[in-house]
Amino acid sequence: MSRISGKSIQLLKGFKDILPEHQKYWNFLISQAEKIFLNYGFEKIDVPVLEESRLYIKGTGKHTDIVQKELYEFDDKNGERVALRPEFTPGICRAYIEHGMLNKQQPLKFYAFGPVFRHDNPQAGRLRQFHQFDLEVIGTDSPVADAQLIIIAYRFLESLGLTLVVHINSIGCSSCRAEYISCLRQYLMGAQRKKRLCENCRERYSKNPLRILDCKEEECQKTIYSAPQIVDFLCDECKKHFMAVLEQLDDIEIPYILDVRLVRGLDYYTRTTFEIYFKDQLAEENRTQSALAGGGRYDGLIELLGGRPTSAIGFAIGAERVISRMRDNNINVPEYNKPDVFVAQLGLEARKESFKLYERLLAENIKVGESFSQDGLKKQLEKADSLNVKFTLILGQREIIDKTIILRDMNSGIQEIINYDNIINEIKKRIKTLNSSIKSYMLADIKRDEKFEEKDVDLVKKVEKNIGRKEVLINGNRDNGEDTKKKEQFIGNRQPKYKLNSDDEENEKIINKF
Ligand SMILES: [Zn+2]
Ligand SMILES: [Zn+2]
Repeated sequence: MSRISGKSIQLLKGFKDILPEHQKYWNFLISQAEKIFLNYGFEKIDVPVLEESRLYIKGTGKHTDIVQKELYEFDDKNGERVALRPEFTPGICRAYIEHGMLNKQQPLKFYAFGPVFRHDNPQAGRLRQFHQFDLEVIGTDSPVADAQLIIIAYRFLESLGLTLVVHINSIGCSSCRAEYISCLRQYLMGAQRKKRLCENCRERYSKNPLRILDCKEEECQKTIYSAPQIVDFLCDECKKHFMAVLEQLDDIEIPYILDVRLVRGLDYYTRTTFEIYFKDQLAEENRTQSALAGGGRYDGLIELLGGRPTSAIGFAIGAERVISRMRDNNINVPEYNKPDVFVAQLGLEARKESFKLYERLLAENIKVGESFSQDGLKKQLEKADSLNVKFTLILGQREIIDKTIILRDMNSGIQEIINYDNIINEIKKRIKTLNSSIKSYMLADIKRDEKFEEKDVDLVKKVEKNIGRKEVLINGNRDNGEDTKKKEQFIGNRQPKYKLNSDDEENEKIINKF
């Protein structure tokens, strides 16, 4: 206590305030997310920030960095071991099991948003409390769910004005992965490679060797450079599944890279894993950069947590990372709840009347600003300026007597005297005219940060061109010719599209009956 008493209390290390001037980014992200996720048929779910520690030790995995090093856990006052959520997935799966959602029509699609906590090293610029958007599709192993989730993540980030590329891989199922892992171990034992790995990776060798593949240490990356690749070990079922996911991404023209070293950090992943990167990062050997979104399939998790075997897939998007990319790239976001009109007053009677006018404007859904605690007109007009309003209404003693009000156009500086009884209608009319002429600017501006001089139509066309671009790269970085050839064969060997399997035939019969 004595240490605090002389000094003001400060933020905990790794925690951050989100100040009002940054809220416009958060507001934009949240409103875009809700719009897009709801459109794709997802339903919102909120799970608690605090859960039993066991949930994450079991669910996230006790060999993961998240649980071993970063879990925020402590004993509560009853001596129960609890943890702040480091991710959403285990909590949502717990809720799925606990509320018997298995009995609903499957699959279920959830989205969540909120803070997550990791007791990470804040020196690395990481926060200990940060925010994630999280989406989960529970109750299907269909590749359609994988493809659709990737598309949703892509569409959401794209709607924020970011240029993106998807990295995708399949890490197989428990049966085909076992063979791969033993081959990987053999490879690492050869030529004394294991000795060259970092301390973490030497530990991973026995507990979770797949993780060695995405170690960020340069020496480890060199060591695993020509390691066997999991795509070559996929069983027929896993291969078919993966092909179907890629085909669907092709159909929707989502650009992706087949990234054979993408395994993700968590124990529970099976089959599809993916990450989405901001595009420019690729130019600078992206492995040291952080993905904006990442996720994958986790067909074993619900059973692991005590539910019935249930396939599922999900992903998370780091909100702080996304916002920092947007700001680095000068992407403008709409100002939210910015007033269009300001009410200024001079004199006691005028203040009383303008106070009422302010309420009437709000009741009409007009965004209105004020500074009633200021007496001087100059101070009030400065405030109106700083709010960047389009119009200021000025009410003085004389206007009260004349039953009029001054309407000042803040752009042109032109002032008009308006009949006081007419003012609400007049303001509504003017705001409507203004808004209809700037709508198309905003669309273009969000996407590309274009300048305003160009004609609206040209801007919108340009934006459409930029979004519609198709590009598919195959394992573009750290690759030798041999790998590329292998991958091209892999891609080239795909099954013909929409081949009927027995299920589909069954479905067709049902459809034909109607
Ligand atoms: Zn398999
Ligand atoms: Zn390593």
